[in-house]
Amino acid sequence: MLVDLSPIIKVTGAKIKLDGNVGFNDAEFLGETYRFNEPLRVTGEIYNNGQSLTLSARARGIMQTECARCLKPIDVDVDFDIHELLSRAEDGAREDEDVILFYGHEIELDEIVADNFLMNISGRYLCKEDCKGICPKCGHDLNEGDCGCDREYIDPRWQALADILNQREDNDPD
Ligand SMILES: [Zn+2]
Ligand SMILES: [Zn+2]
Repeated sequence: MLVDLSPIIKVTGAKIKLDGNVGFNDAEFLGETYRFNEPLRVTGEIYNNGQSLTLSARARGIMQTECARCLKPIDVDVDFDIHELLSRAEDGAREDEDVILFYGHEIELDEIVADNFLMNISGRYLCKEDCKGICPKCGHDLNEGDCGCDREYIDPRWQALADILNQREDNDPD
């Protein structure tokens, strides 16, 4: 999403309305994959406050990822705000954490939107709050019922200890 800033670069108080699409490639982040079948819709404005340009926008869309417990594909609503300061490199601005530089009279918003997306994802999505996940032994989806596996399996070397502890619990006067 390339934006032509020439109408506002030198005009304090001027603004440009934003309304466009930003397409994402699949994003890999913290071991999770996020897919976007459709681009994000980005709306907002860029405003010249006399010192720099302020970008205020909202990005919305739907992404495809996997439930963190059962690995089922799920759609997740994406909705986040973007607030950035933009300064023209030719005006001697230095890039730092708070300022994004642009060159000439245009700015490409795709990377800015992508960076903000990564700051806003939680990294862990569930198909439903109480998803039971999959059986670690056979891979069965436990939301569809139990598979019958013994998931309480205890290594025989520890079984003797477990027996002792169980006995103690049984004998406990409380
Ligand atoms: Zn799930
Ligand atoms: Zn199982």
